[in-house]
Amino acid sequence: MITIQQIAKTFGGKEGNVVALEPFSLDIAEGELVSIIGPSGCGKSTLLRIIAGLEVPTSGKIVLGTAGQKRPVGFVFQDAVLLPWKTVAENIRFPLDTSGAPRSQSDEKVRELIKLVGLEGFENSLPKQLSGGMKQRAAIARALADDPPILLMDEPFSAVDLLTRETLNDELSRIWQQTGKTILLVTHSVEEAAYLGTKVMVMSPRPGRLKKTIEVDLQLPRDEHTRRSAEYLDLVAELRNMMREMTE
Ligand code: ADP
Ligand code: MG
Repeated sequence: MITIQQIAKTFGGKEGNVVALEPFSLDIAEGELVSIIGPSGCGKSTLLRIIAGLEVPTSGKIVLGTAGQKRPVGFVFQDAVLLPWKTVAENIRFPLDTSGAPRSQSDEKVRELIKLVGLEGFENSLPKQLSGGMKQRAAIARALADDPPILLMDEPFSAVDLLTRETLNDELSRIWQQTGKTILLVTHSVEEAAYLGTKVMVMSPRPGRLKKTIEVDLQLPRDEHTRRSAEYLDLVAELRNMMREMTE
């Protein structure tokens, strides 16, 4: 679904060049959920932005296995960027309106998405009336509105408290399995990376590079049993050690 071929990115600036990403290659299959972790400045956001086509790589290329799709990726950011004067339903509908879908079809789609992310009853609420976690649910629904096969998420749950975060992790895992989307999730949380991923990409800074890709063998669906399992706890410890070595 995503083929990364020797992608590299260098930013030029007054103080000289910053190597945001050293060349690396990676194949991501359809339906995978790849977690990306690493200290600040290791190029995680740059990588997502290149995949989304928001940034041009200095060398290499990205091939998305999505022939003919108008907008093959949906993007979810750390702070839900919802239009404050529009209701939840209107925010989710927004990408559908701009793509010219007929009203009856988009009504049905919006209902489906609200159900998918568990926001029933809040269709007519304004963003300011929602908690942080609920705003992120709305942002996920909006990113999925025109049905992109790929969902890119840049630290989507960093601004919510731990309990909400675990609930949202469970919800994301369910949404992922229900929709079959290919998801790239950047996170600071080793627990989140291990709990959700089929693969974890560990990146290191200065210069930004892919340090290691770890296959995650934890059984699906992931649930409370996963959080207590020895395999999960071992993986979390391994990731934590790798992160500690990098930031020492
Ligand atoms: P991360 O998301 O892992 O924290 P980023 O991808 O945001 O890292 O940034 C990687 C490196 O590239 C950092 O050193 C950052 O300062 C630099 N960088 C990112 N965007 C730009 C830009 N538009 N111009 C110059 N430097 C940038
Ligand atoms: Mg970032």
